[in-house]
Amino acid sequence: MCIHGHFYQPPRENPFTGLIPPEPGAEPFENFNEKIHSECYRPNAELGNFELISFNFGPTLAHWLEAQFPVTHDRIVMSDKRHRRTFGVGNGMAQAYNHTILPLARHRDKATQIRWGIADFAHRFGHAPEGMWLPEMAADIDTLAAMQSLGLRYTLLCPHQVRDPNGDWVDSRMPHYVRLSDNRYLTVFLRDEQMSNRLAFDPGLTASAAHFADWCRDTAHTDSGLFIIATDGETFGHHQHRRQHFLRSLLRTEASRVGFQVTTPGGYLRRHSPTRDVVLVEQTAWSCAHGLARWNTGCACTSGDQRWKLRLRTAFDRLAGSVDALYENECRAWIDAPWKLRDGYINVMLGIIEGPDLLRQFSSRAIPTEATRRLLHLLEAERYCQAMYTSCGLYFEDLGRIETRNNIAYASMSVDQVKLATGLDLSPGLRSDLAAAKSWVTQETGQDIYDNVVAHRRA
Ligand SMILES: [Zn+2]
Repeated sequence: MCIHGHFYQPPRENPFTGLIPPEPGAEPFENFNEKIHSECYRPNAELGNFELISFNFGPTLAHWLEAQFPVTHDRIVMSDKRHRRTFGVGNGMAQAYNHTILPLARHRDKATQIRWGIADFAHRFGHAPEGMWLPEMAADIDTLAAMQSLGLRYTLLCPHQVRDPNGDWVDSRMPHYVRLSDNRYLTVFLRDEQMSNRLAFDPGLTASAAHFADWCRDTAHTDSGLFIIATDGETFGHHQHRRQHFLRSLLRTEASRVGFQVTTPGGYLRRHSPTRDVVLVEQTAWSCAHGLARWNTGCACTSGDQRWKLRLRTAFDRLAGSVDALYENECRAWIDAPWKLRDGYINVMLGIIEGPDLLRQFSSRAIPTEATRRLLHLLEAERYCQAMYTSCGLYFEDLGRIETRNNIAYASMSVDQVKLATGLDLSPGLRSDLAAAKSWVTQETGQDIYDNVVAHRRA
């Protein structure tokens, strides 16, 4: 048995200040991050649960945790180290950096998100990751191939995301190979749908770890194979009250009492290689049955007029296209590999290297001060373009929600950086594209939100 926790929160920071504003409903805490830290991250870290589960911690959340609650952050990092010492393999997985729906991203953005996720993990945990969690488990072959070519070995998916070569369902109790082009492969683990869903959504079944372990044994119907229970990590203590104790008891005593051995994907791969090929069902995800429409054209999972989603995405794509062209143009005189430079910019974001030093690594000539200034502003513009695609802004029902406003704020910050770099103002084009996206709740448009965000910032 493997329990995998996907630990992640939408970025709640005001994009301009980096601070989380007070959030009603989180009382007695200042905001939901602090509430969830107190109910879930800290107690699970204190109980040693991170040492026995498989987990991924979203880089943007890990960044916040490291700054606000370094003791909890370090406990989680140490858990992976200890697990590695005991089992010869870490139990942390990387995550694509900005929680972007990668199949909907442009090819080079996929590579950047994966590279940034790998770099953040390696910096935090002190070793390269073997596996990567895909935001919303959204997968296509292009994304898996990019992961494989960057040294990753596996990911986790749901059973409905793969088929055997005859089009039939695949046994989720073992890992499989997805064949990429050129006879390359990536291993996929499949979560057990029934166990995962019952653990996440049936509090009656998880009131006692002994009860849940007995139910799993009776449900498994077999004494071999791998059962992966993958769910939001916040289930343990936040979504489900006091389930950190359930998790500890399940991992330390109850699972083994009924005959399970607790393992992780990396640990399991050390002893069992995949033997069969499966076919990926592309453009699918774990939290919605409508392919990737939820983050693109909208789907029936959310109410109201969902046309704003594609219009917002189109506005962002056009902005990103303009920023990319300006960036490439500015690089031409000095930088041989602009997109490798953008990938390397994560080291500036992580504070490992200063911007001018990074530029020197990517240029054979001495770059004048003014060109250095322009390039660094354009790299910041690229960084905010990556942040504006954070999937939470396209997940919920309405354009007016804070997650979407934050994405529009990131877009405005990219516009600001372009202006600082080149003097060009991209806001007229972006505002006009955003005008097409309309909230069905408040009737305000993306342009209204953009103007509001910018005015707020000035104030
Ligand atoms: Zn849906």
